[in-house]
Amino acid sequence: MTDRTKMTAKFVAPPETGTLLPRTVFGPEHEDYRRTARKFFEHEVFPHWEEWEAQGHVDRGLWNKAGDAGLLCVAIPEEFGGLGADRIFATVVMEEQARVGASGPGFSLHSEIVAPYILHYGTDAQKREYLPKMASGEIIGAIGMTEPSTGSDLQSIRTRAEDKGDHYVLNGSKIFITNGYLADLVIVVAKTGASGKGSADTSLILVEANSLGFTKGKPLKKMGMRAQDTTELFFNDVRVPKENVLGTEGMGFMMLMQQLAWERLMIAIQAQASAEANFDIARDYVKNRNAFGRPVAAFQTMRHRMAEMQTELSVGRAFVDECLKAEVAGTLTPMAAAGAKMWVSEMCSRVIDQCVNMHGGYGFMWEYPVARAFVDNRAHRIYGGTNDIMKELISRAL
Ligand SMILES: Cc1cc2nc3c(=O)[nH]c(=O)nc-3n(C[C@H](O)[C@H](O)[C@H](O)COP(=O)(O)OP(=O)(O)OC[C@H]3O[C@@H](n4cnc5c(N)ncnc54)[C@H](O)[C@@H]3O)c2cc1C
Repeated sequence: MTDRTKMTAKFVAPPETGTLLPRTVFGPEHEDYRRTARKFFEHEVFPHWEEWEAQGHVDRGLWNKAGDAGLLCVAIPEEFGGLGADRIFATVVMEEQARVGASGPGFSLHSEIVAPYILHYGTDAQKREYLPKMASGEIIGAIGMTEPSTGSDLQSIRTRAEDKGDHYVLNGSKIFITNGYLADLVIVVAKTGASGKGSADTSLILVEANSLGFTKGKPLKKMGMRAQDTTELFFNDVRVPKENVLGTEGMGFMMLMQQLAWERLMIAIQAQASAEANFDIARDYVKNRNAFGRPVAAFQTMRHRMAEMQTELSVGRAFVDECLKAEVAGTLTPMAAAGAKMWVSEMCSRVIDQCVNMHGGYGFMWEYPVARAFVDNRAHRIYGGTNDIMKELISRAL
């Protein structure tokens, strides 16, 4: 019999528990699309988890397959190669990826962070050059903000693009860059001005991976998300044409701020889906595991714990779905997104910690999805701005 709580070559889904209220976000078109996404993650991604974790990144060919399946850049207009769909479709892709516990492919960053920057701020030439290739998986996108000496305090970055008339000369380095190892195109956050005001001196610059002087480190050895390629990037006198600036020079910080609400909601969406998926697995486990002559799920302490978990999941679900509706309506506030990112990522850690407990010693074994989820999901509290920074943002408006 297949042990569906253990990692196997084939994805075996536990029964879905659902939350305490029905979801009202999706229409039949989203559910149709979900079937495509589900099939893709179960068949093209899940069986490779071990091999990709060992090499520290997914195979390049997966990106082309995802492009062929229509899973990349879904919210990009059709004229630039996307599906022209709303962000609820993008949410379906994120949820299905989280369902199989595949933290490897950095699809959401590529499709939902990098591509929208180009769509919103790029010139027509930049959009035509990069977006169709990003939608097909021919090129992979990354964004480099964080540096070895600074992350939260983005205004203190040191990477500098020196103005040389018709081109810039870029020097500096970035760290912890998702998709960095496989990336063909990186949006580099760099200083272009010298006013001393970080916010006014910052620009976003498109740098192609084959540029002379641009090198990448090996995938970093991380505690979790081991199949996701996360690297250091080095820029040593990289000559970048002036036309590669994204939007207006010196407006980089403003552009970053405008996109952050959705980026943070995306983290909440992924954390929520992952917490729900792991709850399903753990619930299934305790129903099938016996102790003292009965299923572990029959003990009152366990039943009460699960009741608490399902309630927490339902609270998170309601908050995330309301934020998603606001995002689609164009009314999501930075504060609500920060709150969703902070609370749901913390809730996800609490729930998955309990899921590990429910598995006893097996929960500590790498071949059990809950063990991987325990460390993979820890990252949600760090990137996209740490949860301390989320509290700063929310409290400023109080
Ligand atoms: C798996 C992974 C993927 C990532 N992907 C990317 C990527 O694709 N692109 C990218 O640019 N970056 C990426 N990052 C980097 C991530 O965004 C940063 O690590 C994060 O923003 C924190 O920055 P830092 O590491 O420099 O920590 P620091 O800023 O040095 O923070 C250290 C500690 O101080 C706290 N702190 C800092 N300032 C304050 C304050 N004002 N008030 C209270 N506490 C504070 C922080 O909360 C934290 O606990 C990734 C990180 C990880 C782990």
